[in-house]
Amino acid sequence: AEVEGVFESRTATSREAFARAREHIPGGVPGGLGFMSPHPVYFERADGAYAWDADGNKYLDVMSGDWLLPLGHCHPDVLDATIAQLRRGTTYCSPHVSLGADLAAELHRRLPSMEQIRFTASGTEATMTALRLARAFTGRPKIAKMRGGYHGTHDLSLVANGRFADPGAVPPGLIPGVEDAVVLLPYNHSDESEQILDRHADEIAAVIVEPILGGTGMIPATPEFLARLREVTRRHGMLLVLDEVVSFPMDVHGAQGHFGIEPDLTTLGKAIGGGLPLAAYGGRADIMALVDPVLDPMTQMRHATTLGGIPATLAAGLAQVRALTPEVHDHLNRLGERLRQGVRDIGRRHHAPLQVTGFAHVFGIHWTPTPVVDLETVLTSDKAVTNLLATSLYNQGILMFKSALGTVTSPMTDDDVAMFLDALERSVVDSGLVG
Ligand code: PLP
Repeated sequence: AEVEGVFESRTATSREAFARAREHIPGGVPGGLGFMSPHPVYFERADGAYAWDADGNKYLDVMSGDWLLPLGHCHPDVLDATIAQLRRGTTYCSPHVSLGADLAAELHRRLPSMEQIRFTASGTEATMTALRLARAFTGRPKIAKMRGGYHGTHDLSLVANGRFADPGAVPPGLIPGVEDAVVLLPYNHSDESEQILDRHADEIAAVIVEPILGGTGMIPATPEFLARLREVTRRHGMLLVLDEVVSFPMDVHGAQGHFGIEPDLTTLGKAIGGGLPLAAYGGRADIMALVDPVLDPMTQMRHATTLGGIPATLAAGLAQVRALTPEVHDHLNRLGERLRQGVRDIGRRHHAPLQVTGFAHVFGIHWTPTPVVDLETVLTSDKAVTNLLATSLYNQGILMFKSALGTVTSPMTDDDVAMFLDALERSVVDSGLVG
């Protein structure tokens, strides 16, 4: 109650903004969710590692626009490139002379498996289209996904997604029977997954998997699990779709470089747009050939998108991807590891059931004595406690998802990580959660 009281006292302007916004917007949030406790917090500006809310409170931003700003807010290269393009027009309907080809070449250089690439306006559209392409290419009806895997808000993705609802549940509004088109696999359980794929060998077009189970808890795949999926899908003629919407900035060659895995198709989003709506799917040239818009309409796998890959977002994305240098990745990895180690140390010092997941720049904090390695173990985490910790951090000037997932960004320093860890330790102790 005390933590919530402090939250209320800091957010009077947000409360007023909420009352106004909800007159015409369900829940008062126009698109995503953001920080809610219990009402949304409204923001006015952000710069580098920090963001300022409508009441003038300053935050260290470890939400990073939902993992899309590894370079922080308003990176000068991204800002300059975007503004320069905006002055020449946001879009011409016809393609820009070089931006699409330049970004596709840059992405291919980093992820060589992406021989051919198409751009979309969201990660949802990228994974939806990649899965449709897999069905068109293989002529098979079903896809396999992880229990708890999240790939956006299209119907196939919403079967058994997320960690907070019943992980097997089908939410309202989906196409009746869509769950029959989805085969569910247990993340990080190779033998069981292989047996399930063997049973459905002839009907599965593709297996889609996040190299790190992102929104469900920042739980990395084991290299063995991904290697097994690669081997089994190849054996059965299924495509392997690696959803790198969150994981792309983990390595200069993406998570696929980190794990040494070569998918047939890859989906990208979030960080490739420099903070603007840009996503992509791509992979083997023989598969992507089906998307060629000059093909006969009955042969072509139709993918048209009004806002996918417009010059304004391509300019932002190209600047951001180019700025993700090996030095930047080193800095992100070092700060990320420092933060994760610091959380482990706090758990040890206070005999608290604190688990930390993630790698490279991302982390997840879980309140459970059980090491978190898959969906079952993340479900043992106490949601009320992680929400309380996030609100308590918020009160101390740190903006983190209420599910206690977050990321470091390149403008952050060792001092910022130390500040985060001090605040977390204070939250753990002051909330009376330990001894
Ligand atoms: N794939 C993954 C792994 C995601 O985490 C998300 C979004 O969080 C998506 C796809 C969907 O992206 P978008 O929200 O841009 O539609």
